[in-house]
Amino acid sequence: MKKRQVVLKSGRSSSTTSASVIRNVRYRECQKNHAANIGGYAVDGCREFMASGGEGTTGALTCAACGCHRNFHRREVETEVVCEYTPPNSSYAQ
Ligand SMILES: [Zn+2]
Repeated sequence: MKKRQVVLKSGRSSSTTSASVIRNVRYRECQKNHAANIGGYAVDGCREFMASGGEGTTGALTCAACGCHRNFHRREVETEVVCEYTPPNSSYAQ
């Protein structure tokens, strides 16, 4: 069960090439130290953030697996730029 947030940005300029920036934001291992109050170090072992609620709700920031806030999870951003070049209609009429 992976939740992937994909943000698509389409160039709306008058350029003939369109570049789309695909950004994948993932929240990986939970890094909250549950033993901080006793001077130790123990994480809950949650491997990946899963929102317990839909986008726009407070549950979207709470992990369904471990119950921690999303900020405790290691953030990983992958940015990918996809350029699409559409050549003008080639006409071989001579
Ligand atoms: Zn956690």
